[in-house]
Amino acid sequence: MIKLATRAQSLKPSATLAITAKAKELKAQGVDVIGFGAGEPDFDTPENIKSRAIEAIRCGFTKYTVVSGIDELKEAIIKRLEEDYGLRYEKSEISVACGAKHSLYNLAQVLFEEGDEVIIPSPYWVSYPEQVKLAGATPVIIETNELEGFKIDPARLRDAITPSAKALILNYPSNPTGATYDEAELREIAGIALDAGLVIISDEIYDKIIYGDTVHTPVAALSDEIKRSTMLVNGVSKTYSMTGWRIGFAAGDSGVIGAVNKLQGQCTSNPASISQAASVEAFGGDQSVVREMVAEFEKRRGYIVGRLNSISGISCFEPRGAFYVFPNVAEFYGKRYNSKQINGSLDFTEFLLNTAKVAVVPGIAFGADGYVRISYATSMENIEKGMDRIEEACRGLR
Ligand code: PMP
Repeated sequence: MIKLATRAQSLKPSATLAITAKAKELKAQGVDVIGFGAGEPDFDTPENIKSRAIEAIRCGFTKYTVVSGIDELKEAIIKRLEEDYGLRYEKSEISVACGAKHSLYNLAQVLFEEGDEVIIPSPYWVSYPEQVKLAGATPVIIETNELEGFKIDPARLRDAITPSAKALILNYPSNPTGATYDEAELREIAGIALDAGLVIISDEIYDKIIYGDTVHTPVAALSDEIKRSTMLVNGVSKTYSMTGWRIGFAAGDSGVIGAVNKLQGQCTSNPASISQAASVEAFGGDQSVVREMVAEFEKRRGYIVGRLNSISGISCFEPRGAFYVFPNVAEFYGKRYNSKQINGSLDFTEFLLNTAKVAVVPGIAFGADGYVRISYATSMENIEKGMDRIEEACRGLR
């Protein structure tokens, strides 16, 4: 048997991708499974974006590009950030990668090393702790809870900072909770981080998917001082329904971006030229499709939160953004079905899959075992059917 490096042995597979694969497998076997695992919008990529990609292929834009992304794309990103948030970056402060996940990985590799601690609020997106560990550093988890709106408690953040602390990872709107921060809250958090000399890595991939009167403020837009310590991460996946195109970016300090570019030059080289051309159109073209998609998500959010909260034993926080709900299901722990006891989110997920034929993601994958994540990036019809099934299955628990 070929021995793997320790790094590979201790790596956890992505739980969100695993549940989606399991639901697909069951569906292929003919089982009528409703998948609530999806981490991607269920809308097609807009036509104008697809056309730009086809044009790129037709005119032979099919070769290597500059490692960090073509100028035209960097300019489109810069323009969008300035128009939307008044944020100003130079091209030397932007690096385009194969998805925001890749940008985050690159940042972890160039910033973290053994002995460093990286503060991650939980519930967290599954890849942060794994990427931190791959860089040899240690994730330090600070818990947030439903009662506090899943927001970082400033005192808890202060307590978590040791002399080894190197960075704070922010993600708002959050996957999995949908929580976000207003400007005053961000100012307080950023102030604490800056006083401690931390780098802020701000994953704002859901910035455009926000509801009601929610306003998104990039932490880097709060002051020049905060901006200098912040690496902003975003991409086209969620906003433009382009998960398969694999384009994300990091923006911030040119020294860090230079290191990211050097690393990327040795690992993947440029992101796909065709996807880059399409992304110029995504960032620069008509933005009204985003509003239409968000309006549809908002309808589903209202429905799903209402249904979940009407189920005895479930309480569900109303998300302010993204397309997930993260209901608390801990009241069912200790109960039984088919003589099997439910002892945590993995058991609850298995119970839902077996009994209700509904696939959700266990909260433990996000560091919060009392919860499950349900994505509403699926049709209203599926949501209605899925909620009926979950309601009925939960009623059967003793
Ligand atoms: N950050 C968060 C919080 C996400 O939910 C995701 C996608 N699931 C990503 C980053 C990665 O997105 P991309 O497709 O751009 O790699």
